[in-house]
Amino acid sequence: MENLKNKTVIITGAASGIGKATAELFAQKGANVIISDIDESEGIVTTKNIVASGGKVTFIKTDVSIPEDMEALVNFAIKTYGKLDVAVNNAGIGGELNPLADMSIEGWHKVININLNSLFYGMKYQIRAMLKNGGGSIINISSILGSVGFAGSSGYASAKHGVIGLTQTAALEYSSQNIRINAVGPGFIDTPLLDSLDTEMKKQLVALHPIGRLGKSEEVAELIYWLASDKSSFATGSYYPIDGGYLAR
Ligand code: NAP
Repeated sequence: MENLKNKTVIITGAASGIGKATAELFAQKGANVIISDIDESEGIVTTKNIVASGGKVTFIKTDVSIPEDMEALVNFAIKTYGKLDVAVNNAGIGGELNPLADMSIEGWHKVININLNSLFYGMKYQIRAMLKNGGGSIINISSILGSVGFAGSSGYASAKHGVIGLTQTAALEYSSQNIRINAVGPGFIDTPLLDSLDTEMKKQLVALHPIGRLGKSEEVAELIYWLASDKSSFATGSYYPIDGGYLAR
């Protein structure tokens, strides 16, 4: 996988932000990209744009918090391309912003379901498919909040810490069978996920990144691409922050 020519790739949450930039980059590298998202209309727009620039891409509507949807997504890859080489488990939400004691039970379950349980559902079927075709690479999108806390985001930070534990454990279980599994930890990235924040809050977030700005989706996509490709052949079970210095403070 020096480049991704003819490799079959699933990317969840690929209608927007980091997932969309990753789908665009992977399509440029020659992959058969399966874009999945809960947002069908934006998913179709993204798909059409990539097709217009010569990429091979299909859209499948998926709710990552539904196990049957994640199984169907893998089955689609196998039926269409005969194998699954790479999975990027990226879909996620910001979740309810409240101090822990004010966090609703529903809000807690929602963020854990979409940002953590979904990765168990996804990997369960992705790994089975990869075992049949001799290996693959799975990239799970965590966050800087996978290794530190953030006031107001107890559910989100718990889910993202969980993503790292799940990644490490799955890597221990399957690396000897040629499936590499890694996690990426973006700092704050300028995507629609941050749309609910006002300008003042965004300014405060910028100040937390020594590099002096928020990240771009394309910058994260480059790291995901490296982890998907054979250039990262010795990398497994690791967590890769990409955060403009956030965690170095
Ligand atoms: P984004 O622009 O909001 O894109 C996420 C996509 O996932 C959206 O299209 C969203 O659809 C979709 N989605 C939401 N719930 C879903 C579900 N149940 N099933 C399938 N798709 C679903 O967000 P992003 O910033 O690119 O975030 C991508 C990943 O990076 C997330 O895991 C996020 O936690 C992580 N991350 C982001 C940042 C950041 O600052 N942006 C930092 C660290 C980590 P809707 O728009 O309809 O919700």
